Amino acid sequence: MSKQNISILVAENNLPDIDIIKSTLAGYDDINYSIDIARSCTDALAKAADNRFDLVLMNQHLPGMEGISMLKELTEKKLGMPVIMIVAEGEDRLGVQAMDKGAYDYLTKSEIRTESLGRAVRRAIQRKKLEEDIKESLAKLESLAIRDGLTGLYNHRHFREVIRQEYKKATRHMQPLSCIMLDLDHFKAVNDNHGHQFGDFVLAQSAEILRRLVRDTDFLARYGGEEFFIILPSTDLHGAFILAERIRVAFANNIFRKGNISDVVTVSIGISSTSDDNVISDEDLIANADKSLYRAKWRGRNNVCTYEEAELEEAASIKEDVKKIEDFHKRLRNINENIKENCIGYAHDILRDIEKGWDYITNHSVRVSRYAEKLTRELLISEEDVNVIKRAALLHDIGMVGISSEILKKNGKLTEEEYNVIKRHSNIGVKIMEKTRLFEKELPIILYHHERFDGSGYPHRLKGDTIPCGARILAIAEAFDVIVSDTAYKKAGSPENAVKELKKCAGRQFDPHMVNAFVRIIGKEQ
Ligand code: GH3
Ligand code: MG
Ligand code: MG
Repeated sequence: MSKQNISILVAENNLPDIDIIKSTLAGYDDINYSIDIARSCTDALAKAADNRFDLVLMNQHLPGMEGISMLKELTEKKLGMPVIMIVAEGEDRLGVQAMDKGAYDYLTKSEIRTESLGRAVRRAIQRKKLEEDIKESLAKLESLAIRDGLTGLYNHRHFREVIRQEYKKATRHMQPLSCIMLDLDHFKAVNDNHGHQFGDFVLAQSAEILRRLVRDTDFLARYGGEEFFIILPSTDLHGAFILAERIRVAFANNIFRKGNISDVVTVSIGISSTSDDNVISDEDLIANADKSLYRAKWRGRNNVCTYEEAELEEAASIKEDVKKIEDFHKRLRNINENIKENCIGYAHDILRDIEKGWDYITNHSVRVSRYAEKLTRELLISEEDVNVIKRAALLHDIGMVGISSEILKKNGKLTEEEYNVIKRHSNIGVKIMEKTRLFEKELPIILYHHERFDGSGYPHRLKGDTIPCGARILAIAEAFDVIVSDTAYKKAGSPENAVKELKKCAGRQFDPHMVNAFVRIIGKEQ
């Protein structure tokens, strides 16, 4: 086993004592003692200053200064060299005092000739070693508490502490502060393709790449699994962007190589800065960087995005989304309208087919629909309602399909019984069209188009405004058409007569306000 080398500074002015110490220590052949002599306090302090000794053996009585005072100076300099004080016979109290002041041990003049010297020296050296080990372990523990084991970068907890302090500092000194948040792209695939060990290697190497690129004053942290965070004090957004781009390019050009495995891993980067308009705390800086990083990923990865860009793009994409939805809705509405129109057309075809070419209902409905449309517009009702009322008019007599053909096509006046059968048509029409689930708004108009304003109509004897507006319009339009058209049992009347009839029945059969409007329309047309 190789011999231990111990270097000792002997602060002693007495030559015989120096010789004694030298010869006593030389007697131990397991240790090589190298001894330096200082004959005065000044000399001793000067030699101790460069801290190259493992131990100081010091006489309490030295020219220039009391040993205890010199001990104090050595302690203040925190050199960490153990001191053994040598005192005269009978001066044990001074020795004890020296130990109180920080000496490891003391020996009397007679003890330096004995085993005691060797024992004390060994004990002091061992104690020093122990103290050094403890110090090292403490430093390691301290570092473990703030550093990430795999990359050696600051851990998440410490990062939070640093960003809090740096944010405070930046605001106090009105200095910019920027942040870079970085995430390895498709890192799960790196693990899946090459194994976790290679993944760990990539993470450790990534930390190295980052270390090379940042300044000493920047703080590098492992934020999470494959996410890193860089705090950039005194750096504005522009500076942060330049660094971020440099990092992005460095990763894109790098090949991670270990054994026979190699792969390229790109990064996505989000940037935030105290100049972002919403930043009032360190938490905002983190949230903004996170949002920008998300945007960089969204753009397709291997990308750098600032918070401002992320905000603008998000607003634009929301606008675009809303526009797309609106467009979709509009086209769907158009399709729906087409379906309804086709359905009405088919319903008339079917009715004609069943009644063997009888097209009175179709022709009458088309005319009523035109009158109803004009009246609705005159009443300034919305365009959407115009369409609903027009459709209701086209369908209002479709329920006639449930009435026997003999009654429908009868020449001459109907009996009361026959008229009662006819009255069922509005109900039947609704029952049939309900099944299509297309005419939710039109059905009440169809159902109530034979109600009368005074409450004497059918099927439910509704009165006044409780009759749906569309049904009141339809009633006037239908009555007008019946009067001015030829039917099986009567000749067509003139529009003037029809208007007279409507006016006569205003307030009883018809809504008087609507009659006035209708009369206006007919007047304009003539
Ligand atoms: P993206 O581009 O969207 O970021 O995809 P990604 O695959 O990188 O992201 P994801 O969040 O889906 O996966 C992250 C992966 O990182 C999953 C996880 O197992 C891995 N990971 C996290 N910490 C470590 C680690 O310490 N070592 C290793 N080898 N892998 C880790
Ligand atoms: Mg990732
Ligand atoms: Mg991630």
